[in-house]
Amino acid sequence: MITPRSLVLLLSLMAACARNPGEVVVRRSQPHMGTVVTLTVAIDDEAVAERAIASGFAEVSRLDQLLSNYKSTSDLSRLNAQAGTGPVSVAPELFEVTRAAVQIATRSGGAFNPLLQPVIKLWGIPEHPRVPSAAELEALRPLTDLRGLVLSEDQRTIALAQPGMALGLGGVGKGYTADRVAEVLEQSGARGGVAAIGGDIRVFGKHPDDRPWRIAVRPPQADTPPLAVVELSRGAVSTSGDYERYFEVDGVRYHHIIDPRSLMPAQGAASVTVLAPTATEADGLATAVLVMSPAEGVALVERSAHSAALILDQDRRRLASSRWPAGVESDAKFDLRDGENAY
Ligand code: ADP
Ligand code: MG
Repeated sequence: MITPRSLVLLLSLMAACARNPGEVVVRRSQPHMGTVVTLTVAIDDEAVAERAIASGFAEVSRLDQLLSNYKSTSDLSRLNAQAGTGPVSVAPELFEVTRAAVQIATRSGGAFNPLLQPVIKLWGIPEHPRVPSAAELEALRPLTDLRGLVLSEDQRTIALAQPGMALGLGGVGKGYTADRVAEVLEQSGARGGVAAIGGDIRVFGKHPDDRPWRIAVRPPQADTPPLAVVELSRGAVSTSGDYERYFEVDGVRYHHIIDPRSLMPAQGAASVTVLAPTATEADGLATAVLVMSPAEGVALVERSAHSAALILDQDRRRLASSRWPAGVESDAKFDLRDGENAY
């Protein structure tokens, strides 16, 4: 017999399973920016989905041409070539992401430093890695002084005070790209979607099952299950790790995130995942926290509104900030197929 009570239970169960009629998930991956870009949309028309995703990839390519440190023809490389010559007018996107980088640098007390680019180049990561001498590193230190990076909001110019200085956006550019691409997907008619530029992921709207997106946080070794699954309807998640890009000399591992104090690979956390309102912020904070000690990193995230972090220290011990959504992790389903990061 169906009692009113069991009817309520049955109806709420049906609501939980209801799919938006006709809506499908379309997902496509392409290599860009030295990583895999995966765009996912929830939409009721496959042709519209394909067009939305094509516009998303076009936006990735457009931003890469503005923000890349690897392309000598990018707007960023042109800016760096003019270091020491005074203010340079730049595209709005380059200005915006540089402003974000400066803010994270300030908030992290300089652990995040977009002027480390000459040091990163000296280490030759990833193409021609080698361990530089202390003298070579110290010679570059004056070029990393953040007072040498001057933005003018009125003129939309950036000045690099000394010749040889160079701006690097590797710690924040993929997150910024994820934000802009998610905007393009949403404007193209997707009701929900996920823009993942490697481990920098921006989410909007809902899954067709009328629930938040589930985002897998990738683990240190690719062949182990995700570290956690977080549920998001709006916002971003970014992961930085010392295992992503590295080389080894005489059994010592050197990775690609540099501590501005030592000018050597950071010794802070092994892996950092940050939740934040935008992927720009999540990406920048994850890089900053990786440089800091886990305790300092948690303190930085606690000071940042609507942000949370999950840190693995050098001994692979987990440390979570107070706003890290503990409940989601325990519900996690680790049944992702190859390359899937959102479901
Ligand atoms: P990934 O690029 O692997 O996703 P991150 O977002 O953490 O990882 O960015 C690392 C990149 O940021 C490095 O490759 C380098 O270009 C740059 N970088 C390295 N150390 C720092 C730092 N202390 N502050 C800002 N950027 C950094
Ligand atoms: Mg980053």
